[in-house]
Parts: sequence; C-alpha cells; structure tokens
Amino acid sequence: MPATGGQTITSLDPATDKPIATVHAASAEDVDRAVKAAKAALVHSSWKQLPATDRGQLMMRLADLMEQNRELFATIDAWDNGKPYHFALEEDLTEAITTIRYYSGWADKTFGQTITTTPQKFAYTIRQPIGVVAQIIPWNYPLSMATWKLGPALACGNTVVLKPAEQTPLSVLILAQLIKKAGFPPGVVNIVNGYGRDAGAALASHPLVDKVAFTGSTATAKVIMKAAAGSLKNITLETGGKSPLLVFPDADMEQAVKWSHSGIMSNKGEICTATSRIFVHRDILDVFTASFKKAVESVRIGDQWDESVFQGPQVTRAQYDRILSYFEIAKSEGATILTGGAPYKPAEAKNQNGYFIQPTVIINATDSMRIAQEEVFGPVVVLFPFDSEEEAIRRANDTTYGLGASVFTRDLERAHRVAAEIDSGMVWVNSSQDCDPRIPFGGVKQSGIGRELGEAGLEAYSQVKAVHVNMGSRL
Ligand code: ADP
Repeated sequence: MPATGGQTITSLDPATDKPIATVHAASAEDVDRAVKAAKAALVHSSWKQLPATDRGQLMMRLADLMEQNRELFATIDAWDNGKPYHFALEEDLTEAITTIRYYSGWADKTFGQTITTTPQKFAYTIRQPIGVVAQIIPWNYPLSMATWKLGPALACGNTVVLKPAEQTPLSVLILAQLIKKAGFPPGVVNIVNGYGRDAGAALASHPLVDKVAFTGSTATAKVIMKAAAGSLKNITLETGGKSPLLVFPDADMEQAVKWSHSGIMSNKGEICTATSRIFVHRDILDVFTASFKKAVESVRIGDQWDESVFQGPQVTRAQYDRILSYFEIAKSEGATILTGGAPYKPAEAKNQNGYFIQPTVIINATDSMRIAQEEVFGPVVVLFPFDSEEEAIRRANDTTYGLGASVFTRDLERAHRVAAEIDSGMVWVNSSQDCDPRIPFGGVKQSGIGRELGEAGLEAYSQVKAVHVNMGSRL
C-alpha cells in the first residue's frame, strides 16, 4: 500500500552500490492506521475466538509457505544485506522457518496455574496476550529477526505492527504476502516499512501500542525506551555487545582458533553477539595469534553469489565508513593493526564500488580504548593477552555490555566457574554463537532487557492474570 507522505526507501546492493528496488516508507499517519488495524484485530472474534490449536496451525502453514519460498527469501536477503546467498539459504532460512515452527507448537501449550490458598479459596492464573505489539527490527538478519519477533507474539495471541530496518526492507514484504496466504485474519500482522526517525518513532510512542520489542543499537534502544515511557509500555530490548571470548592454556587450540574466527567474522561481523574481544592466556598467545591471523587472512571476500565466498560486503556505505573510522581511532589511540585495517578491493569490475572491508585483527590495545569498549559491528576483533583466570574474568566484564561470552578450556570446573562469573545473557563453552529457537536469547547491562526465544520468549509476549475464587468463605 502506498505511503501517505509519498516517502520512499531505495534499497542498494552492497556489492555494487546499485539500486535493487524502491519501496514505500510509512509516515506517522500510516503507522497510526496500522496500529488501529492491529487494535481492531485484537478484539475481533476471528482472532480472539480462534482456538489456540488453530492459531498454531496458521503458523505451521506459514512455515510451510516459507519453506516453499526458501530460495526466494535467501536471494532477497543476500542481495539486500550483502551476506553470501549460501549462508542465507542454509542458516538464515533454517533459523527463520524453525522459529515459526517452534512457536507454532507452543500456541496451544501455554497454560496458567491453579493455586490453593485456604480450604475455602483458591486462585488460578490465565496467560493472556499483551495486546498490540510494535516490533522494530534491524538489518543484519532481516527475515530471521522478523520471525524471532512474530513467532512468540502470534503464538500468544497478540497482534503486531512490525517495522523492518530501512536498510533491508524487502524480504519482509514477501513474508507479508505469505502471512495473508496462510490465512491470518486481516490486521493481525501489519508490516510497515519506514525510517526509524519517522515510522519507528511513531510506533514506539503510539498510545495504542501496548508493547515495544526492539532489536538494534543501544543508542536507539534508549530513545525507544523514553518514547515508550509515555504510556508505560511493556518493553523488550535486544541491543549491542562487545562480547568476550576467553582462551585458556588447556584449550583445544585448533577448535579455539576456528570458533574464535567464526565468532567474529561470520556475517561480516554484523552480529550483535559477535565475540569481538578475544582474551588469550599469555602462555599460548604466540601460537594462537599466528594461527588466528592465518585463519583471518585465508577467507574469500566477494559478492553474495559466489559459493566460495565467506565474507560479503558490509550492509551500507554508512556502516562501511563507520568501520573504517574505527581503524583510525584504534591507531590514534596507540593500538596496532596486525592484519587488515583497510577497504578490500575485489577484482570483479562490477563490484568495485561495493562496501568490502578486509577482516581485521587489532593488538596492543588497552581495555579502556574505544576499540576495546565500543561496538564496531564489522569484521574487526581485538586480541588481548591475560595471565590469570581472575584477571580474564574481570577484564571480560569491564564493559557496559553483557550479551554473549565464550570460554575455551578442557577443565570442566573452570568452564562452569567462568560461565557463572561472566556478566552476560549467554555463554558458549568451547563454542561461539550457538543459537536455537529453544534457548533463551538476550543480554544483561546495556545489552538489553528481557529474553527472546524459548519459553522465555512466551513470557515476553503474554501477561499473567490472577483470578481469586471464593468457594464459601463468609464474612
Ligand atoms: P543502526 O544504527 O545500525 O541502523 P538502529 O538501532 O538505529 O541501528 O536501527 C534498528 C531499528 O531501529 C531499525 O528498524 C531502525 O529504523 C529503528 N530506529 C532507528 N531510530 C529509531 C527511533 N528513533 N525510534 C524507533 N525506531 C528507530
């Protein structure tokens, strides 16, 4: 549907800097219409009276339709975001479809409790939807971020207005068509493309919105929190990170290098949980650094369509410029670039204007430097030596963030001790970036509020009502 203000968004191919498509960008007035449609659908019998099992069936049908359109979605997200098509197809699509399937199963399995209080009284709880939910998502996993948000919201019976990121507006439009085809009643899911400052801000502050669920930068989360405060909206925030990865001397070195590499360099480093600070015990520092450098330098960089490419272009020129600026910041603060630290120029003529960056390893940094504290959101990692477990934990926690953390050791006791001590919402033992719809995902400190995925995701999208029953107590 065209936007009332006539604004548009033109999405660019990050590998070529050429336009892919232009879509309508919602104004505050369009957002208001979408929120009112969601409000009307919330109380309309075709959604409210739908048995929970049937709600789950609609979601299952949606997952099947997504499966049938797997290649289309992977093509669009690869094109729009810059990630290699083969990763989009195997990883993003699997995650997106599995998430909808997982939550479709929960739709008729969320119950309240019965609680006996006195012989004459008891209470029961009912889990009810929160209401109209605004969902604001980022550009790094356009489709799967949409499913993380829609899955639990729909399973719990909410209605939704979802705003994709302006950098990646395309795949969610196909999802909207499939939602309609699956048979969801009108108004249950409303997709509005638009700019953060217009459509996003209008959504976060709309008085009829009961909850805002946001994934994106910590700076934007703070703005959204303030906007949502006006009507005291329920809120879930999943924001930035500067996640640590600790390698102890007893670690399996080959595995530690491989996971350390994928933990920061996958998806061009555009991952909120990227393990962007690697702490290596001094006894193994030289060996680790040499193999890690080799791993970083051995990847193929290129456009989204080459099967052998590991790293595609960064999502936008703004992001590309931002990452490059961090190389200058790091150098001016006195850190050293071990490898990378510059744009990457692909051989193909068509990709000469693409937003490619050399994967970069920075050493000789201190914990207080900006490169050690600020989220870069690119293929950039800082390597630090450490001498003791206590020091590694203390320095790992020396950040305003607390999203993920990895620990590499073969010492069982140490693994669990460190996992308990690190300030983060998730810890990977001898691994990095594991993510599964069944497992809660989210951060502590300035990495977020609340959890997504798993059963925790249902709690984020339902509220508990207590009903007190008097069976005969007389005053
Ligand atoms: P980035 O800075 O990497 O683009 P953001 O956190 O700003 O990341 O963006 C994540 C999402 O938040 C996008 O959908 C964006 O449009 C939206 N957004 C940005 N600014 C605002 C705002 N002031 N209010 C609501 N949403 C916003």
